[in-house]
Amino acid sequence: MEGKKETHQFKTEVQQLLNLIINSLYSNKEIFLRELISNASDAIDKLRFKSQTEPEILGEDTEFRIKITADKENNTLEVSDNGIGMTYDEVMENIGTIAKSGTSAFMDALEKSKSQELLTPELIGQFGVGFYSSFIVAEKVTLITKPAGPEATATRWESTGDGSFDIEETTKDSRGTTVILNLKKPEDGEQDFTEEWTIRSIVKKHSDFVAYPILMDVEKDEQIPEKEQILDKDNKPVATTRKVEKEETLNSMKAIWARDKKEVSDDEYNEFYKHISHDWNDPLTHIHLKLEGTTEYSMLLYLPSKAPFDLFHQERKHGIQLYCKRVFIMEDCKELLPEYLRFVKGVVDAPDLNLNISREILQQDRLVKNIHKNIVKKILDLLAGMEKEEYEKFYNEFGAVIKEGVHVDWENKDKIADLVRYKTTKSDDKLISLQEYVDNMKSDQKEIYYITGDSLSALINSPHIEQLKDKDYEVLLMTDPVDEWVTMSLTEYKEKKLKSAEKGDLELDKVDDKKKDEYTDLFKYIQTSLEDKIKEVKPSSRLRDSLSCLSGDTHDMSAYMEKLLKSSGQETVGAKRVLELNVNHPALGKIKTLFEEDKDNEMLKDYSNLLLDMAIISEGGKVENPARFSKMVGELMSGAL
Ligand code: ADP
Repeated sequence: MEGKKETHQFKTEVQQLLNLIINSLYSNKEIFLRELISNASDAIDKLRFKSQTEPEILGEDTEFRIKITADKENNTLEVSDNGIGMTYDEVMENIGTIAKSGTSAFMDALEKSKSQELLTPELIGQFGVGFYSSFIVAEKVTLITKPAGPEATATRWESTGDGSFDIEETTKDSRGTTVILNLKKPEDGEQDFTEEWTIRSIVKKHSDFVAYPILMDVEKDEQIPEKEQILDKDNKPVATTRKVEKEETLNSMKAIWARDKKEVSDDEYNEFYKHISHDWNDPLTHIHLKLEGTTEYSMLLYLPSKAPFDLFHQERKHGIQLYCKRVFIMEDCKELLPEYLRFVKGVVDAPDLNLNISREILQQDRLVKNIHKNIVKKILDLLAGMEKEEYEKFYNEFGAVIKEGVHVDWENKDKIADLVRYKTTKSDDKLISLQEYVDNMKSDQKEIYYITGDSLSALINSPHIEQLKDKDYEVLLMTDPVDEWVTMSLTEYKEKKLKSAEKGDLELDKVDDKKKDEYTDLFKYIQTSLEDKIKEVKPSSRLRDSLSCLSGDTHDMSAYMEKLLKSSGQETVGAKRVLELNVNHPALGKIKTLFEEDKDNEMLKDYSNLLLDMAIISEGGKVENPARFSKMVGELMSGAL
C-alpha cells in the first residue's frame, strides 16, 4: 500500500455522529480547540509514561509541547504535538471508526432522542467525541502523524466530513501529530479562529492548566537597537520599534490541584474536570484536599453529573490520573479506586511516590494503599453528607454501581448500606433509605422484607407479598441485577434481618392445622404428578388472593438470580422450588372435592400443571408449555361463562 492513497467510507454511525455534532454544537463552536488540545496533551502523557521504561524513545526531542499555528491568509489553524503519534493502523482504528465501547448504547440513545427531538450537547458530551468536533468549524480536516521511535512511517488522514476520508503514507520530520483545519468562513459576528486574541482567550478559558506549554507565534513590538535605527533628515529615528514574531506560552500550566482552594473558581474546577474526563457536562460536585503530615498528597476528585455510556464496559478508561510533584505518571490508575467507585474522576498527586513505579508494584505500595483507603472514605463521606435532592441525582446515575460495594467492600459495608435506596410497596414510586424503612417498621414487624425481579409492576403485584401487604408491612422492591449480590452480603441492617419474601418461611400467620390435614392427600397427589419439576407442595402463608406461588428455601437461588444467570449464558442447576398453594382459595377447595370424588380423574393432572404454570407466570417466568396453558385457560373460561 506504500504511498498509495486509499479512500474509505465512514462507518454509518460515524457519519451520523458527525452530522449530529455539526448541527447541535454550533452555538458552542470554540470547544473544538479544547478537544484538540486535550488529545495532544493525552498523547504527550502517553509518551512520557512510555519513556520512563524506554528513555531512548524520546531521542533529542525531550521538550514536550503543543503548538498552535494560525494562518490568516489561508484561513487555517494547526494544532501539533510531539506526543506518542499514531501508526497507520491506529489512525484507521481511532479516527476512521468509533472503536469505543458503548457505541451501540450511544446510538440507541441517539435514535430515541431523535424521535423526541431532544438532540442535546449533553448527550454527545457523555460519549466524548473529541476529534470529530473539528468539523464544527472546519470544512476540511487533515491529520498528519508519526509514532515515536526511530523507524516510524508517517500517515496522512484527510476528510471533509461528508461520508469518506482519505488515508495514505507520508513523510514527517518529527514524531507526534499535527491537525490542520481548513476553517469555514466565519459568518457575521462569529469568532475568527485565526485571530490571536480569540485563540488566546479560548486557551485561557478551557486549557490553562494543561501541564505542557501551549505555544503560539505572536507578533510583538521589539525595540530596534540604536545601531540599526534608520534616521530621518533631522537625525531622528524613523521608528524605534518593529514587529517581530515570537513564540509565547499561552497557558499558565498551574496545576489546579496544587493551588489553594480559595483561589480556584467554580469555572476553573469545571473546565479542569472537562479536560481530564472528556465529558462536556459540568460535574455534579468535587472534593479538593491537601493532606499534610507523615504522608503528603493532594487530590482533586469529581463526581460526574451523568453516567457515561461505557460505565458497565470493561475497557472504560479515564478514572484517576496519578501525578508525582505535578509530573504526570499515569492515567486510569485503577489501584487508587475500587471498581464500585469507578465513576469518580480526578487527580492524585503524591510527592513521595517513586517516579518509575510500574503498575505491578503500585498495587503493593503502602502509600498507594493508604491513598486508596482515604479516597474511599472521602467519597463515601461526601455522598453521605449530600443534600437529599442532589444525592438522588447522583443515585439515579450511579446507584447501581455504588451498590456493588456492599458485596465487595466488607470494611465499608455499613456505610454503603446507608447509601442504598429502594422503591417500596409503600413509597409511592419514591426512593427511600434503609434507615427510613426501619423507622417506618410496624411495631410487631421484626424483619426487613424484600423481593427481587426485573419489573417493578410485577413485583408490586407479586403473590409472594400478598400477606405482607395485608399486614401493612413494607416490602423493598429490588429491580437491579446487582441487588441479588446486595442481598447475598447485606443480611442485616441495624440489627434487623433482611428477608426475602419469596424464600424460606415468612413466619407470618400459621396455616390452620386442621385445614392442613384436610389437604394432605391432594398435595401428595399434586407433588407426585409434578415430581420432576418441584421439590414439595406446601400450604402457603404468603398468599391471600392468588392460588399459587413458588418459593425457595432460605439459601436457594432466587428466581430472578436464576433468570440473570441464564440470560448471561451460564448453566444453572437451580434448586427445585416449592409450590405453595392457598388453602383458603375457593378454587383449591373445588379441586379437592374433585379429587375426593375420583382420584383417577384426568383433569386433576391438568389442574396440577395449571397451578404450577400460574405460579411461574405470576413471577414473570416462562412456562414449559405455553400452548397447553392457554388451551386450558380457554377450556376453563368456556366452562365458567
Ligand atoms: P477520545 O480522545 O475521547 O478518546 P477522540 O475522538 O478525540 O476521542 O480521539 C480518538 C482517539 O484518537 C484517541 O483516544 C487517541 O487514541 C487518538 N488520538 C486523537 N488525537 C491524537 C493525538 N493528537 N495524538 C495521538 N493520538 C490521538
